[in-house]
Amino acid sequence: MNFGIDDLPVRDELRGKSPYGAPQLDVPVRLNTNENPYPLPEPLVERIAERVREAARNLNRYPDRDAVELRTQLAKYLTDTSGYAVGPANVWAANGSNEVIQQLLQTFGGPGRTAIGFEPSYSMHGLIARGTGTGWISGPRNEDFTIDLAAAGRAIAGHRPDVVFVTTPNNPTGTAVPAETVLALYEAAQAAKPSMVIVDEAYVEFSHGDSLLPLLQGRPNLVVSRTMSKAFGAAGLRLGYLAAHPAVVDAVQLVRLPYHLSAVTQATALAALEHTDTLLKYVEQLKKERDRLVTELLALGYEVTASDANFVQFGRFEDSHVTWQKILDRGVLVRDNGVPGWLRVTAGTPQENDAFLDAVRELKKEQS
Ligand code: PMP
Repeated sequence: MNFGIDDLPVRDELRGKSPYGAPQLDVPVRLNTNENPYPLPEPLVERIAERVREAARNLNRYPDRDAVELRTQLAKYLTDTSGYAVGPANVWAANGSNEVIQQLLQTFGGPGRTAIGFEPSYSMHGLIARGTGTGWISGPRNEDFTIDLAAAGRAIAGHRPDVVFVTTPNNPTGTAVPAETVLALYEAAQAAKPSMVIVDEAYVEFSHGDSLLPLLQGRPNLVVSRTMSKAFGAAGLRLGYLAAHPAVVDAVQLVRLPYHLSAVTQATALAALEHTDTLLKYVEQLKKERDRLVTELLALGYEVTASDANFVQFGRFEDSHVTWQKILDRGVLVRDNGVPGWLRVTAGTPQENDAFLDAVRELKKEQS
């Protein structure tokens, strides 16, 4: 007998749904998940091994539940790179920013509450909302993927959500959201009902502009979430973090699992933070490659959405999935995020980007 999920007494809202995840295909050039293409440098690998060896001697004990040393170093990184002073009491860390967001929704969302995001955006926001029993509201964007402030204001006033997501730079479009827009959304959200505004800055290190961290000043209902998965080139580490008023950090303690961040994770993240300067040099290289992808795609006659991230949204295609397959047939995996007419390519190494550009050049030739 075929026994499947739907034969189990699963929650109604999970019936018929599929798990999130990009295809993990074994192809020569993988530019589909916004990873950093550069492996960690060897001296950092050595330092991780050293720190983890140290941590291993104490693995009979639970880890530092409050991850104080890690939060102190993350706070230092944020202060050094943004010029806005935050301390360990302002910072909280978890297993990837996905877990940070989950903890925030467990704290401020949940059954009977709602969250809004402006789509297309990072689809996990809606999926984590569903997983935490939070109602999801899909807010609008303009044709050019910027946030339509008037429409967003109407949606917030009408739905009075408990949580508002603003992703900047946005995934999958690459669009940065100006500080004034975030401020206006914050004001609208507070006027509708005291609600939390979560600024997801997963890609901010790749931005032409600055982090929105200084907006935290005097705004206790604002949260900035960050990750070591992109700029730090450590997607496999699973380390995300947030900066906010200390009361927010206290509030998420109510839902976090005790000892959620393993001693191995904390040791590895601390080692990576010791090598921040080297890792940020790779970011500079990737920003140049991202800009080169934009220039060359435009020169080839593609449309491109202005990008402040380590990826580029390009189009337009009558059927994006057909084009996705044609690029894949040429050994390059990009991402079809389901935005009609558009695909997304992650900036890789110069060689990977050349392979991608060769593939899309061939497609243009085929059409002409
Ligand atoms: N936010 C955004 C906008 C993302 O694109 C991603 C990763 N794709 C994340 C958060 C989650 O990253 P992680 O859990 O690896 O920190």
